[in-house]
Amino acid sequence: MIYAIVSDIHANAAAFNAVLDDIESRKVDRKICLGDIVGYCADPNESIAAVKVFDTVLMGNHDYAIHDTVLVEKFNFHARLAIEWTCEKLTPADKEYLANLPLKAEDGELTFVHATPRDPGDWGYIINIDDALDAFNYFSNNICFLGHTHNPLVVTDKGHVLLDKKLHLKDDTRYLVNVGSVGQPRDGDPRACYVIYDSDKRILEFVRVNYNIGQTQSRMIKAKFQPFLIHRLAEGR
Ligand code: ZN
Repeated sequence: MIYAIVSDIHANAAAFNAVLDDIESRKVDRKICLGDIVGYCADPNESIAAVKVFDTVLMGNHDYAIHDTVLVEKFNFHARLAIEWTCEKLTPADKEYLANLPLKAEDGELTFVHATPRDPGDWGYIINIDDALDAFNYFSNNICFLGHTHNPLVVTDKGHVLLDKKLHLKDDTRYLVNVGSVGQPRDGDPRACYVIYDSDKRILEFVRVNYNIGQTQSRMIKAKFQPFLIHRLAEGR
């Protein structure tokens, strides 16, 4: 089975469309989205429409924030303005769609969450090796895919951090895989990021896709988004 796993689209339709084209050029059996479909960029409606064909779509904290004013208050200034703008653009049906997304999914040896398997609805961050090792206590199968930090990497249950673009997974090792971000990468590479996983060959690959960043930026300028959010896309920060 070949999986395409995307996360953190953040209403960046140009990036998402480029990733979808790349996925279409491969033989993929299942498409999974780990959440944060909206927030940060200016194409929430297009992004929601495009993700609806996926086999599994999880809720991210920005999707959840559409309904939760308490969580929005905890967001940083830029994220909060983007969510408030997004709220005005979404149709009632799309708000309903985001509100009903699940927090977690499992498929054989795979677990999928947005933030962390410990308590997916608490939106905690895995930022160091202790957080990562702790996370292994909260899923029982072999591989947990997540997003949320926008930093693509793999951590093993032995505490190794792997940054390889392509990995052959071992049978005696468990893995935490951060699939990176489609719409707002933060690892210094501005290209859209997602993962292809071949469960028969146990090969995991991080795919980077060029997209028209200027197109996303001009849509954000037109919608009067904060310059910080517009500029960071070109830097991948
Ligand atoms: Zn995110």
